[in-house]
Amino acid sequence: MLATQPFDDDHPHEECGVFGIFGHPDAAALAALGLHALQHRGQEAAGIVTYDGEQFHAHRAMGHVGENFSSKDVIGRLSGHSAIGHVRYATTGEVAMRNVQPLFADFEFGGLAICHNGNLTNSYKLRQQLVRRGSLFQSTSDTEVIVHLIATSLKLSVEERMVDALRQVEGAYSLAALSQEGLIAVRDPLGVRPLVLGKLGDAWIVASETCALDIIGAQFLRDVEPGEMIVAGPEGLRSSRPFDHARKRLCIFEYIYFARPDSMVDGVSVYETRKRIGAELARESHVPADIVIPVPDSGVPAALGYAAEAKLPFELGIIRNHYVGRTFIEPTDQIRNLGVKLKHNANRAHIQGKRVILVDDSIVRGTTSTKIVAMVRQAGAREVHMRISSPPTMNSCFYGIATPEREKLLASHMSIEEMGKFIGADSLAFVSIDGLYRALGEPKRNAKTPQFCDACFTGDYPIPLVDHEAGRVSTQLSLLTETV
Ligand code: AMP
Repeated sequence: MLATQPFDDDHPHEECGVFGIFGHPDAAALAALGLHALQHRGQEAAGIVTYDGEQFHAHRAMGHVGENFSSKDVIGRLSGHSAIGHVRYATTGEVAMRNVQPLFADFEFGGLAICHNGNLTNSYKLRQQLVRRGSLFQSTSDTEVIVHLIATSLKLSVEERMVDALRQVEGAYSLAALSQEGLIAVRDPLGVRPLVLGKLGDAWIVASETCALDIIGAQFLRDVEPGEMIVAGPEGLRSSRPFDHARKRLCIFEYIYFARPDSMVDGVSVYETRKRIGAELARESHVPADIVIPVPDSGVPAALGYAAEAKLPFELGIIRNHYVGRTFIEPTDQIRNLGVKLKHNANRAHIQGKRVILVDDSIVRGTTSTKIVAMVRQAGAREVHMRISSPPTMNSCFYGIATPEREKLLASHMSIEEMGKFIGADSLAFVSIDGLYRALGEPKRNAKTPQFCDACFTGDYPIPLVDHEAGRVSTQLSLLTETV
């Protein structure tokens, strides 16, 4: 018996989402709602920690936010006017309760809860150094390195210790932390992962995406700036820039796939960007066709943009079943091999006899495209042309997205023509890197100082891959195996 994962195993997996609130009597309930809106950023586990002026309270669980944080009992136990919360998909560390965030520790200065979206690139190196000096790690998550660096810092205040700790780490981080003094939020100097600041009445809020503000009716104030630290406490809000100034390099894949289409990321609408990428794609690589069909849900906005530009009808020619989730039991391997049919089905009436343009956001291992192209052919399509609203994914991400190793990425070892044959399409095209930048309002990619982190497409990694280059990434971190 096999329980399906929230994603197919052969997909890369999403990263994490963070939320923090200071100064509201319903802090835990609002955090739960915020995390629910961020659920797309991590479906494996969720957690909330609150502070009531005397005591911290935590609830952490495997599974979705709605399954674990909708009862009055749970929310009632999470008392206090401030809270932070996290939704997680493992990008480092195994799947286990001990890795579920927020992490919490009792320090010399008091309690501190911390949660992290992103991935550190020198955490193994730092972990080895810390263990040698006597730190006892409780989890295998890279975030715990920050906790130990805070504990061993010689600075006095929580904030100074956090800055001291973060100056030693390399990588991507958008952090929300909760101390006895207040809520602390930090975005790494390159701003690889998004983080926004909002307000609800007198309460301050930080969240990975604006959709988490919308759900609770909070006002969006601004993005937390790369390299900025924000502290919300009883005296109000303070902002500082404790890190060396670097050029912003937001992850471009947030616009292509990760962020929710109704979010604004760094002031730019994700939905409109995806439509513009679709239009670029149509301008760059259109072929005569009868209809444009998205691979739902990720291909929908780009397909809309494509269809409008190509002046072709747009139809939902593939229907997605939204109830394929964690609890679905696949009785036999044979049924498991039906694979994508659990999730997608062809809407025959709109496909039969047509020349179809299929639009999806990315090809990783090629599994989805292969199955979908075959499904569309079986439904009677005359021609199937696959159009992808990102350039070929050639490189793994080390900054918070669990992509497979490079060798497993189809584009790392095949030409576009070979990939097209592999997935069984009549033609295959990807948007160009400059087309992608144009959709984001840039004239083109600036080769010397690229405006975004696009390492998955270009191999240009803006933050040193310290552990990876030293071959440390597969080190076994703990001899303990935990079942959940
Ligand atoms: P693959 O089937 O391995 O080629 O993966 C491509 C499919 O995965 C596309 O339909 C994307 O929408 C989806 N996808 C891309 N990035 C991710 C990710 N980080 N997590 C889950 N799915 C993804």
